Amino acid sequence: MSDEWLECIGCHARYRVDQIRNGCDCGNLLSLERPKEALSALAPALFDARLGRRDPLSRSGVWRFREGVLNLQEGQIVCHPEGGTHLYRRLALSQWAGIDDLDFKHEGENPTGSFKDRGMTVAVSQAVRLGTKAVACASTGNTSSSLAAYAAQAKRRAIVLVPSGKISMSKMSQALAYGARCLKVDGDFDVAMSLVRQLCEHLGIYLVNSVNPFRIEGQKTIAWEILQDLDWHPPDWIVLPAGNLGNTSALGKALREAFEAGWIAKLPRLAAVQAATANPFFQSYRAGFATRPKVKAETIATAIRIGNPVSFEKAKAEILSTRGVVTEVTDAEILLAKREVDRAGLGCEPASACSLAGAKKLRAEGIIKPQERVVCVLTGHLLKDPEAVLQAAPGLEDARDQIVEVGSTLAEVEAALEGCL
Ligand SMILES: *Cc1c(COP(=O)(O)O)cnc(C)c1O
Ligand SMILES: [Zn+2]
Repeated sequence: MSDEWLECIGCHARYRVDQIRNGCDCGNLLSLERPKEALSALAPALFDARLGRRDPLSRSGVWRFREGVLNLQEGQIVCHPEGGTHLYRRLALSQWAGIDDLDFKHEGENPTGSFKDRGMTVAVSQAVRLGTKAVACASTGNTSSSLAAYAAQAKRRAIVLVPSGKISMSKMSQALAYGARCLKVDGDFDVAMSLVRQLCEHLGIYLVNSVNPFRIEGQKTIAWEILQDLDWHPPDWIVLPAGNLGNTSALGKALREAFEAGWIAKLPRLAAVQAATANPFFQSYRAGFATRPKVKAETIATAIRIGNPVSFEKAKAEILSTRGVVTEVTDAEILLAKREVDRAGLGCEPASACSLAGAKKLRAEGIIKPQERVVCVLTGHLLKDPEAVLQAAPGLEDARDQIVEVGSTLAEVEAALEGCL
């Protein structure tokens, strides 16, 4: 029997970890917890030592931190490996945002191209431990790609519910390639989410949306890996896009736990960035969290096109516990920031560019101070949404203008490059 338990974030009821549970009886979300000493007994040196090892679990940027993620027997762990993403610094982007000390954690480098793999390796491992045959989620795209890949590896049936006509075909094709059954739901993400909850309840299928506390445990390692990348000298800020708010919850929990365990001497602040046309969390924050609005979400950043975020309560608690902030950026600002990230040679999908757009805005507003150290999380890969590349931001030329039809003679090719060299 492990010393971990599931705890309700509302009434604090506790449940065993080896039972299927999608929430507390009182209706609130569950969180995976362990005694405080479990983490304070560990030192960063343990995680650093694993960096040099060759076994898959040490190679994984998730399971390298396994004592703080989930206690499982090695045979139960479904590991790709994942994580181990890089931290980048680009002068052009620092200048653009007006922040000298600015790094980018590129989570698009995960096996299926987004940070969702960090949560999915843990949730699917838990499904194996529980002995469930099928796993399901509702998704705007990246969660389903990730679920499908891990389910394939674990030989479990993957079922994904996607909002019809509202997701990137490149993401859906990934889930299809890995063999998932895809149900296109006549409705938006929030409709798909409510359906999948009922479906899992009825058929005993394991639900791996971010209501699943095991996913949150895996996603915590984005923050822990950033701290490790920075040799455990914490940044002042971690900036990330915010949609369903699972990741905001995860990063906040990770920072809090690292601080309480004594792994870092200072608690970084979280900055959650929403799209202005999908901004229920921002609206609530602006009202001092006195309200919990639902909105009809519409943004080019499909990964955060969410009007009623599932992890609202957890994320709110983590914004408060890290003295964090929530901001919003317009689709035009997202496209401008994405273009900067792309042109710096890094590249990301639209939702990911929220972190740079948000950091620039917070710096301009003086919330981020000139000398502060900032890490932006780039959540997904450029190729997740190739159509977005062709969507020009206002005032910028269309990327399609870079394509020039030429004949087959050298003279024609040279003429086409005039003014270009
Ligand atoms: C899922 C996702 C997000 C949003 O994360 P939440 O946990 O839903 O807030 C942002 N960017 C990308 C690329 C994603 O896949
Ligand atoms: Zn409860």
